[in-house]
Amino acid sequence: MEVIKSFYIKNFSFFETWMIWATVLVLFLVIVVILFIFKKEQEDFKRFTTFNRYGLIWKWKYDREQIASLWCYCPDCGSRLICDDEHSRSGVLGEKSAFFICNACGENEKGKVAGGDRNHVLRIVKHEIYKLIKSNQYKEELI
Ligand SMILES: [Zn+2]
Repeated sequence: MEVIKSFYIKNFSFFETWMIWATVLVLFLVIVVILFIFKKEQEDFKRFTTFNRYGLIWKWKYDREQIASLWCYCPDCGSRLICDDEHSRSGVLGEKSAFFICNACGENEKGKVAGGDRNHVLRIVKHEIYKLIKSNQYKEELI
């Protein structure tokens, strides 16, 4: 309180009690605005909800900071793709693959990711999304 009082006396040679409350209010509003801007900047990555990998369009949402409902869509018609990873349990590493098929485009294969089943693909795509967010490179992916 003394700091505020001496500030006004020094700068305006004038002081009344209400000025303390006005100062507190202004400081409070400034802090709220700063926190708001900071929070908004921190959550900017939440604008990043789609990108293109393996020739497919990937879309997802956020549940707080976590990626949720990640799946891929047809690059030609935008339909949700079907995954065929029946042979991904093969004992031979090179033979494991997940195929992504679009029913709306005549059951055509739209993409193939080698190395495992759909869970494997979702894991590596998720990993890539988090990597882009962490390095701020996601901004280059925003449309
Ligand atoms: Zn399609």
